[in-house]
Amino acid sequence: MSNAEELKELYDLARRALECQAAIGHKEIILEPMAPLPETPVAVMPQPIIPAIQPTLLPNLTPTIAAPEYESLELHNQAICNCLNCSLGHTRTKFVYGVGNPHAKIMFVGEAPGRDEDLKGEPFVGRAGQLLNNILAAMKLTRQDVYIANILKCRPPENRDPQPDEMQACFPYLKEQIRLIKPQFLCALGRIAAHGLLNTTTPLGKLRSRWHSYEGIPMLVTYHPAALLRFPQYKRDVWEDMKFLMAEYERRNENK
Ligand code: URA
Repeated sequence: MSNAEELKELYDLARRALECQAAIGHKEIILEPMAPLPETPVAVMPQPIIPAIQPTLLPNLTPTIAAPEYESLELHNQAICNCLNCSLGHTRTKFVYGVGNPHAKIMFVGEAPGRDEDLKGEPFVGRAGQLLNNILAAMKLTRQDVYIANILKCRPPENRDPQPDEMQACFPYLKEQIRLIKPQFLCALGRIAAHGLLNTTTPLGKLRSRWHSYEGIPMLVTYHPAALLRFPQYKRDVWEDMKFLMAEYERRNENK
């Protein structure tokens, strides 16, 4: 292989690694240990084009007026399911409120419905949902043991990232769900859920492996199941996060 070909290969590798990191929410470069470079001195190193990583816009999710409180999840769902507070209300097929045990001790929060969820009206029913079911099964839980909701209740077109105005319009709904369920633990799935609930733009990788608090409820952050479909090497990290969650869950509930 010529020097130029060798350089092109290194360049492509570096670019792919950066794209992978950007896709799962890293805003800084994480260097993996590298094989030693070839001995041959290299004359001119082409500058890799580093993909631009968009800074996350942090919506102000503090409601300006107090949202009404409801007696149950059903009444809340009935009251909001025809919502047109943002443009997504005009393009959705179904409003995706949430699913699971209204008395769940663990509540998972994802990003927004995708195509399958939009058609069925239930969160996490597509491929990412299947993976979430597998994660739950490994924790010896089912969807009926936990509660699953999203930051947005309506599907963004082409599954694009939720926009700040959409998150702001929808956040009071999640807040009311959390108030009604009163889970013992929250688990944010992915960057959008973590940033929305924690009001931060800290990269996801730095939010993992420690407890946060959402209005006094202990909260963990882990990778989104859809990210695991693209980067299966992150499954091990998610499993570590889930073991961390279950250890604390068991500690708190051992005498109950
Ligand atoms: N991804 C999400 O964040 N939520 C869903 O409901 C489905 C896919």
